[in-house]
Amino acid sequence: MPELKRYRMLIDGAWTDAGDGKTFESVNPTTGRPWAEIPAATEDDVDRAVRAAHRAFAEGEWAAMLPTGRGKLLRGLADLLADKSEDLGRTECVDTGKMFKETRWQAKYIAEFFHFYAGLADKVVGETLPIDKPDMMTVTTREPLGVVAAVVPWNSQLFLVAVKIGPALAAGNTVVLKASEHASAAMLEFGELIERAGFPPGVVNIVTGFGEPCGRALTTHPLVARISFTGGPATARHIVRNSAENFAEVSLELGGKSPVIVFEDADLESAVNGSMASIFGASGQSCVAGSRIYLHEKIYDAFLSEIASRAGKIVIGDPLAEETQMGPLCTLGQLDACETQVARAREQGGAVRHGGRRPAHLNAGWFYEPTIVECPDQTMEIVDTEMFGPVLSVLRFRDEDEAVRKANDTRYGLASGIFTRDIGRALRVQKRIRSGIVWINTYRVVSPIAEFGGFKDSGYGREAGAQAIYDYTRPKTVWINTSDAPMGNPFVMR
Ligand code: NAD
Repeated sequence: MPELKRYRMLIDGAWTDAGDGKTFESVNPTTGRPWAEIPAATEDDVDRAVRAAHRAFAEGEWAAMLPTGRGKLLRGLADLLADKSEDLGRTECVDTGKMFKETRWQAKYIAEFFHFYAGLADKVVGETLPIDKPDMMTVTTREPLGVVAAVVPWNSQLFLVAVKIGPALAAGNTVVLKASEHASAAMLEFGELIERAGFPPGVVNIVTGFGEPCGRALTTHPLVARISFTGGPATARHIVRNSAENFAEVSLELGGKSPVIVFEDADLESAVNGSMASIFGASGQSCVAGSRIYLHEKIYDAFLSEIASRAGKIVIGDPLAEETQMGPLCTLGQLDACETQVARAREQGGAVRHGGRRPAHLNAGWFYEPTIVECPDQTMEIVDTEMFGPVLSVLRFRDEDEAVRKANDTRYGLASGIFTRDIGRALRVQKRIRSGIVWINTYRVVSPIAEFGGFKDSGYGREAGAQAIYDYTRPKTVWINTSDAPMGNPFVMR
C-alpha cells in the first residue's frame, strides 16, 4: 500500500501535529482508498490557535499595520494563489473527487476574491452623524471584531476560505480556519501561501479535525468574536447554540434545494445547458445545485427527453482526466443518500428517466450516475431533500402562479433559476421567488463583486460583495465636545 501523505496544521506560524499525535485518514473518493493523514486537533490545539490569533489581533505587527499594508499582503497572497492554482487544484481533485479542470480553474479565479478585498482594505469608512446636540461632533469609526472562526465544509473549500478570510483580513481581524474532516489537504497547502505572502504568525491559523471536539471547541471559545459557518443546517443548529457561549456574531451559509423554472418561451438550448450545469456540474455537490426543475407543460416532454439524452452522454470517470465530465461523490454518505432517496422516490410514484444507479463500468470509488426523476407530486420526499449529488427532480407547471408557488414550497431559499425570453415575466417571477440568488437565463455564476447567501433554512448573512468587509467590523461611536465652556452640571436638565 502506498505511503500516506502526511499533513500538519498551522498554529501561530508553526506547522504542528495534534497535541496527542492523533491523526485521521483522508480518502480519495475516486479509489475509495486513503491517501493522506491529517492531524485530529484536540481542544488544547484549538485553544492554542485561538489564543495565537487573539495575540496577533491585540498586539504586534498586524495590530499596528495600516489598512493599506493589509491590502498589499492580500494582493501578494492573490498572486501566489494564482501561480499555485494548478497544484492546489490537483490536491483538491484527489481529496474531493471534483474535476481537476474545475478545481484548478476555481483556485485561479479565487485569486480575484483576494484582489477585490485587497482593494477594499483601505476604503472602509465611518460616518459623521448630523447629531441633534449643539457643540457636539459625533463620528463613527469601523473597528475589526477580533478573532474570526471560519468553519467550512469539504466542497469548494478554497472558494469558501477566500470569501471568509478575504474580507476578515482586509478589515484587520485574525482568523482560525477549520477544515472539513472530509477534505483538509488543499486548505493546508493554501496555508503555505499565507506564510510566503508574509502574514505575521497567528494572523491565520488552520486546524483540522472533526466537529467534535475541534469544531465545537472553536465555536464555543470565549475569545472568538465572529463565526462564519458554511455547511449543513443540522450542524448550523449546533453552531448557533455554541455561539450562546461566547456571544460571537454568526453568519450561516447552508444548503439548498434550488428550483430552476423553464417557461415555454425559453431559449431551450440555453435552458438545457443551464439545467445540466446546475445539477450535474460538480456531480451535483454544490450548495446552489438546481436540484428541482419545473417545466411548463407545453415543453415538458420534449425538454425531459432532451435532458435525459444529454445525461446519457456525460462522461463519468477519473476526475483528473481532461475528458471526464463527472467525477465521484466525495463521501460514501452522499452516495447512500442518493440511493436511499431515489429508492424512496420510486416507491412514492417517481419514474427514473435516467440513471439511478452506480455506473457499471466503475467498480471502485463513490460514483453515481446522473439521475433524472420525474416527480408527479410536489410533496414527494425527494423534492425537498438535499442530497448533495447528481439527482434532478422534474416537475410540471401550467402557469406563472403555479411555478412560483411550487418553487417557493421548500424550507430552503439559497438560489433559483428562471429561463424565459419574456423580460417582464422574468422580473415578475424573480421578485416573487424567496431565494438569496436568482439567475435569469444563466446559472452558477459567482463573482467577488456579487453578494452570496440565502433565505429561510439556507441561512443568514451574506458573503462576497463589498458589504462583506463591513460585516467583519463594527461601528465605534465617538462623541467630541467642541465647546470651550465647561461640561454642564449633571443635575440640571436643559
Ligand atoms: P457539515 O455541516 O457536515 O460540516 C461543515 C463543517 O462543520 C465541517 O468542517 C464540520 O467538521 C463542522 N462541524 C460539524 N459539527 C460541528 C460542531 N458541532 N461544531 C462546529 N463545527 C462542526 O457539512 P458538509 O456535509 O461537510 O457539507 C455539505 C453541506 O454544506 C451541504 O448542506 C451544502 O449545501 C453546504 N454548503 C453550503 C454552501 C453555501 O455557501 N451556502 C457552500 C458549500 C456547502
